Amino acid sequence: MHRGGGHAANLARVGHTPAAPGPTQLAGALRKAGVPDVDAAPRRRAEYSSDASNYRVVPEVVAFPRHTDEIVAALGVCRELGVPLVPRGGGTSIAGNALSTGLVLDLSRHLNRVVEVDPEARTAVAEPGAVLDDISAAGAPYGLRFGPDPSTHARATIGGSIGNNACGARALRYGRTADNVVALDVVTGTGVRFTARRYGRDDVPGDGAPRRSCWPPSAA
Ligand SMILES: Cc1cc2nc3c(=O)[nH]c(=O)nc-3n(C[C@H](O)[C@H](O)[C@H](O)COP(=O)(O)OP(=O)(O)OC[C@H]3O[C@@H](n4cnc5c(N)ncnc54)[C@H](O)[C@@H]3O)c2cc1C
Repeated sequence: MHRGGGHAANLARVGHTPAAPGPTQLAGALRKAGVPDVDAAPRRRAEYSSDASNYRVVPEVVAFPRHTDEIVAALGVCRELGVPLVPRGGGTSIAGNALSTGLVLDLSRHLNRVVEVDPEARTAVAEPGAVLDDISAAGAPYGLRFGPDPSTHARATIGGSIGNNACGARALRYGRTADNVVALDVVTGTGVRFTARRYGRDDVPGDGAPRRSCWPPSAA
């Protein structure tokens, strides 16, 4: 190991990570940043220390954002304090997917609406915490349903299903979740917001229309 003074000092600086804030400090910082619905109580942290897996990881805080702005604010706090963050929908993952030592952002409490259904386009606009069965119920009057259909559809959310690219018994007919996403409003870890869309594709799986190639972007 190189022990030269200047080099060692640089290594120490590069390797420095801020001391992890405790639950009270993190909850306070989130509230100050405009995220009011936060819970650092031991009971709440215990509830969110598991999903449907065998893993147990206790988070510092659980937050329930009400708007995208609050998600962006929470990301900013986590970046500033060096806290890991995991979004969570129904928490039905079986590999510890929805667990975090830092902040768990539960999107199912407030951001759970099916905003609209467009029977012509055969699409729905839904918030990330919308439960799959609620999306199917909204489409039912038009003969539509969410096709991929993981067996946890009564609890699983669209955000978590996109995160896992979930599918189930009807996947051969309708494809996986990724095959059924037309556009996404995205917030990156650095707080950048943008809309991601498919290129060169205007059909929806399962509508009987011929599939078009998604990539490279079609010139047509
Ligand atoms: C009994 C049982 C049966 C199951 N059957 C199936 C099955 O048939 N098919 C299948 O595919 N899976 C199955 N699963 C796994 C799981 O239920 C599905 O993958 C489900 O779609 C996950 O949805 P969720 O809302 O519970 O996601 P969560 O578990 O809450 O989250 C899943 C992942 O997505 C991320 N995430 C959640 N919301 C967002 C968001 N808004 N933005 C970004 N990332 C996000 C989370 O951080 C996590 O990594 C099963 C699980 C169980 C326990």
